[in-house]
Amino acid sequence: MIHSSDPKEITETILSWKSKGLKVGFVPTMGFLHEGHADLFRRSVSENDKTVVSIFVNPAQFNDPEDYAKYPVNTEGDLQICKEAGADLVYLPAKDTVYPGGIPSVELKVPHLMKNLDATTRPGHFEGVLLVLSRFFHTIPADRSYFGKKDYQQFLIVKDFAKALGFPMEVIGVDTVRSEQGLALSSRNARLSPKEKEEALLLSRALRLGENLIKQGEKDPAEVLTVMKDVLDSSSLIKIDYLEVLNAETLEELHILKGEILLAVAVFLGQVRLIDNLTVKVS
Ligand code: AMP
Repeated sequence: MIHSSDPKEITETILSWKSKGLKVGFVPTMGFLHEGHADLFRRSVSENDKTVVSIFVNPAQFNDPEDYAKYPVNTEGDLQICKEAGADLVYLPAKDTVYPGGIPSVELKVPHLMKNLDATTRPGHFEGVLLVLSRFFHTIPADRSYFGKKDYQQFLIVKDFAKALGFPMEVIGVDTVRSEQGLALSSRNARLSPKEKEEALLLSRALRLGENLIKQGEKDPAEVLTVMKDVLDSSSLIKIDYLEVLNAETLEELHILKGEILLAVAVFLGQVRLIDNLTVKVS
């Protein structure tokens, strides 16, 4: 496995692979890697000849400077995880390499998918994600890129954005990896106290309850929301940021539950913000 902070070296290596007809997969990350990331790497390794991982804590996507400052870093451990999962190339750029002269003043949007959820509760977040990905998609001309459905809205936005801008790259969504008890793995979980970690299990519990209700035939989104909210409200430590039941393709509100449905939740547990979601299909 090669690792480099030099974008020229990264692009040249990938172009040399592509000139031999090899297929390249790309997994962008912000590091502090865990089994959820490793699952994306393994998926890419299984579907491509070469796998490229980027590790970069992107300042442009943090609307809270403290959240950026506290983002955990573990480069040595990350490189080990990349290697074990079979990655071939890891891009570790410095902030000034990605943004020479600072973060540029442009605003990238996919407006029809940015009307709710994290797009409104974290203003500027997806604009920052699209900015860094635009840069990385030029540096890393892969055939496929892999995104976790844990960040479901991000996956939909990136897929639409890459298509709209004509990046010749397939954007693939990968199911969420969870702990045995159901907690969606996240780099942010490391900042939870033992008590908060226990309460964090209520997110997936609420989502599963909502899913079961829908599968049992509930057609009213308000009923499902009430049941899920009661679960979250049972913890005095949880502060709900959003809780939504939406059309999973358009992220529009639903009046009757049918088709592919997204159950999405974001909460604050102390200083830490956690998100989770599930999709359910009903006829
Ligand atoms: P991050 O490092 O948080 O920017 O995440 C990098 C990629 O890993 C994103 O596409 C995330 O959606 C994905 N990811 C993070 N956690 C998980 C998880 N528990 N299961 C699957 N994918 C994940």
